[in-house]
Amino acid sequence: MTFRVYNALSRTKEPFQSLEPGVVRMYNCGPTVYKRQHIGNFRSFVFADLLRRWLEYLGYEVRQVMNITDVGHILDDEEEGEDKIEAEARETGRDPWKISREETEVFLADAAELGILEPMVRPKATEHIPEMIEMVKGLIDKGHAYRKGDNVYFDVTTFERYGRLSGNKVEDLDAGARVAVNAEKRNPADFALWKSDPRHIMKWDTEFGPDGFPGWHIECSAMARKHLGDRIDIHTGGEDNVFPHHECEIAQSECFTGQPFANYWLHTKFLQVDGGKMSKSLGNVYTIDDVKARGYTPRQLRYALLRGHYRQPLNFTWDILQEVATALEGLDDLVARLRRAAEGESGAADEPRAGMEFVQAAQAEFEAGMNEDLNVPRALAALFGLRSHALEGHFGRESATAALEFLGRANGVLGILDLEERTLDAAVEALIAERQAARAAKDFAKSDELRDRLAAMGVELQDSADGVTWRLK
Ligand SMILES: [Zn+2]
Repeated sequence: MTFRVYNALSRTKEPFQSLEPGVVRMYNCGPTVYKRQHIGNFRSFVFADLLRRWLEYLGYEVRQVMNITDVGHILDDEEEGEDKIEAEARETGRDPWKISREETEVFLADAAELGILEPMVRPKATEHIPEMIEMVKGLIDKGHAYRKGDNVYFDVTTFERYGRLSGNKVEDLDAGARVAVNAEKRNPADFALWKSDPRHIMKWDTEFGPDGFPGWHIECSAMARKHLGDRIDIHTGGEDNVFPHHECEIAQSECFTGQPFANYWLHTKFLQVDGGKMSKSLGNVYTIDDVKARGYTPRQLRYALLRGHYRQPLNFTWDILQEVATALEGLDDLVARLRRAAEGESGAADEPRAGMEFVQAAQAEFEAGMNEDLNVPRALAALFGLRSHALEGHFGRESATAALEFLGRANGVLGILDLEERTLDAAVEALIAERQAARAAKDFAKSDELRDRLAAMGVELQDSADGVTWRLK
């Protein structure tokens, strides 16, 4: 079965083939660390994680690089025209170096909570200034860039494929429309590789003057090249990265190396909140802390961010998160049922291999879904299909074991199931026994109190005719 991906460069679904057999070189645009990342930012980071995990499931060794943009990027190709970290520093009176250091730590903690695996390298832009300068100088030498005072610009007319990724045409990029008016530039669409400004706090003394700092685009080109080489397989980012960021990366990298840069470009659509763009004025720019404050877990949020197809807009509301939590409970219940069936407890079919065909079908459907441009809704439907069979007691001991093994592999990709097998330690066992005794003696006050104590330890009890079962919340 072939893994097919939608390549933004060709605007078609293509079979994936890596440059080197068995190895994938992948670069993911990472966060700009000037403030806490919101859950919308995390949609694209969780997607990058999913893609890496799926490639690993397929047997590839994935060399994944996700950068940290820890120096303000120039936004002269967009409306804002200001560097986010420096702007935050001026607004709050904090040191920009301190802001980016602290926000990097916060980002890493949030990413870990969301089950995002550590990439091979998380390069920081501030630690790659020499590599950027090397590329800027090389681009000047080759006639693709020019210096105006202490600023350096890329001349977009020297790269005929400029605009291929985004569909923008150089002649349409009028000054004052999507690009800022700047008298220094030869062409309105030219973009800065290196800027100088004595007011900038994060700055470097180079041959381009004492007050320089890099353009955002050159940061990613230089970090990708340093850690993955001149050519890479996959480059990802959010839909807002297509233009100008990725378009400019392609121009710089390909003009510098003379080779194609990335073979596949994948972009995640924005997360919508309450059906629209999240905004400060609506108060719906949520972070992981907001999600936790409402009593939801990072695992539930990961599910909420993954459950849609990455090229479709995805909506987030608190009601949706509640539905997601319920759906996830269904999958937790599936695991619990399979575990009991695998132990030959109640609910198992007599024939050990009963239902094996359902396990095989679920796995085939899961893989087909993921291979079809990472169609997570289809892959998830395969897991819920297994649950319907489990509810009807279709699985015997062997097939339940096989289903659990499959869920383990599927979870290596999705990272949303709780498959850790836990045994209650003696203290908890004793409390449960004590509570059973209290119930038998009709001492309900004591029984309730013990139930609450267990709940505080994360143990949830379910009373039934057969006695009591438990699970960890
Ligand atoms: Zn980037």
